[in-house]
Amino acid sequence: MIYKNIQLKKYNTFGLEYTAECMIKIKTEKEATALFNGTVAWKKPLLILGCGSNILFTSDFQGTILYPELKGIKIEEQEPDKGNVIVSAGAGVNWDDFVAWSVNKGFGGLENLSLIPGKVGATPVQNIGAYGVEVKDQIVKVKTISANDGSIRIFNNSECEFGYRNSIFKKREKDKYLVTRVYYRLTVKPSLNLGYESLKEEVSKIGKETLKNVRQGVINIRRSKLPDPEITGNAGSFFKNPVVTSSVAVNLKGGYPDMPVYKDQEGYMKLASGWLIDQCGWKGKRRGDAGIHEKQALVLVNYGKATGKEIYNLSEEIKKSVHEKFGVDLEREVEVVGVI
Ligand SMILES: Cc1cc2nc3c(=O)[nH]c(=O)nc-3n(C[C@H](O)[C@H](O)[C@H](O)COP(=O)(O)OP(=O)(O)OC[C@H]3O[C@@H](n4cnc5c(N)ncnc54)[C@H](O)[C@@H]3O)c2cc1C
Repeated sequence: MIYKNIQLKKYNTFGLEYTAECMIKIKTEKEATALFNGTVAWKKPLLILGCGSNILFTSDFQGTILYPELKGIKIEEQEPDKGNVIVSAGAGVNWDDFVAWSVNKGFGGLENLSLIPGKVGATPVQNIGAYGVEVKDQIVKVKTISANDGSIRIFNNSECEFGYRNSIFKKREKDKYLVTRVYYRLTVKPSLNLGYESLKEEVSKIGKETLKNVRQGVINIRRSKLPDPEITGNAGSFFKNPVVTSSVAVNLKGGYPDMPVYKDQEGYMKLASGWLIDQCGWKGKRRGDAGIHEKQALVLVNYGKATGKEIYNLSEEIKKSVHEKFGVDLEREVEVVGVI
């Protein structure tokens, strides 16, 4: 279905009131193929949109938004000798519905990623992660349709070039492939990942260490810490956690002994953006309706009528002050779409 001059407020979790010139909703792979092989005319540029939970619009969008609604969850294959099962879900399936389905079936692997907003189609794009788990460790392959000619292409795990909140679909192949279906390898006899102390504690309050209780623990923590986008517009973590060389981390730690630092790949350490922003005094601050959440300095919020540009400008101010205080450059996790 093709729609013209669409109001985007309900299509982005910041609740920003910009418009898109055109939106095409796609329910089947056949429809996507017809769009990309020239059968259907559409105006460039193209933006593929899930729930808009990682996007900051800063102006009206003069082009075509592609909105995948491909549904269906399937058990594809059993691997009894390895204790695994391969399951797949359509790009338009709500991510947390899929996680709930997998946990109810007793399949392990996704429970730590409970309640992350968005759709299945964005999970390989973003390589979503939480509580010590990244979805790249479960993804087997990603089915896509080329925006160039409508042909089907399957990317196996290594071809996705996964990185921290990153993949080939966010880098050089951005908006060149529509993800239509994602295949995940889950375990039939789950081994739980309770490496995060706060999660372990929450699960022990609920009861035994089971798949369902881990999911519930994650949900409880997320609900207590993060603003609900249905009530206060936001896109979760606005910045990535910066990765610096170990020597930079050691120097910083010398000046700020309380600074949290985490191991990363050999020779590198990860810093906590939220802590850096908090130390610059931003938590709970507002510029009109654009603000920083009072419980979580990493989350920028729209208290009502903020524009995307105001939120963007606030993020620039934050970047500048973190750079001045710590000499560390923050990189936005949220994707900015539009004129700045
Ligand atoms: C309250 C809150 C908490 C959050 N917590 C986390 C968290 O813990 N961990 C985490 O990793 N993220 C988190 N996020 C960010 C966000 O939920 C994820 O990045 C999510 O995967 C985005 O899904 P989406 O469907 O909204 O994608 P969108 O934001 O609409 O799009 C994200 C990117 O994926 C592309 N894309 C989307 N669908 C497709 C498709 N079918 N084919 C090709 N490209 C596509 C888009 O073009 C865009 O580049 C949080 C967000 C919020 C609001």
